[in-house]
Amino acid sequence: MRIETAQGFLSDHYDPRSRVLRLSPDVYSTPSLAAVGVAAHEAGHALQHAAGYAPLSLRTALVPAASVGSQLAWPLLVFGFLLQATALVKLGVVFFAAAVVFQLVTLPVEFNASRRALAAVESVGILGPDELPGARQVLTAAALTYVAAAVTSVMQLLYFLLRSGMLGGNDE
Ligand SMILES: [Zn+2]
Repeated sequence: MRIETAQGFLSDHYDPRSRVLRLSPDVYSTPSLAAVGVAAHEAGHALQHAAGYAPLSLRTALVPAASVGSQLAWPLLVFGFLLQATALVKLGVVFFAAAVVFQLVTLPVEFNASRRALAAVESVGILGPDELPGARQVLTAAALTYVAAAVTSVMQLLYFLLRSGMLGGNDE
């Protein structure tokens, strides 16, 4: 596995295809609790990959469907509702659902990466015992943003399912 710097704020990620861990300049060069937390979390994804952690493989497999889904869903839904074209709306809902499934699969992957990260940080001793709760807080906060985004998307999906008549049989 290699470690590189990536351009941009919050661009940190582990790329399973090229086995490269890319960290944003801030995270790469700042000796802060948050930077250690983020770097360890991304390394957690690399550990998942090495361990053959199934949800990560599933998430990687879903990336193409999710990116097509999230790009096409909104235009289809907007034009579908504007033109009252039910077929377009339903197609939009299907694409939107693909993106939501991806977000839901992302949740266990993110929680598990943070768990692996904290265990590794603790066993290697990068952080002192007084610093561990801070790192745990940073990672919990990051995980909660994924949960909030997923909850929002599920609510939106339910709304679209109802509005399109695909759920509840109300096709007004
Ligand atoms: Zn992650």
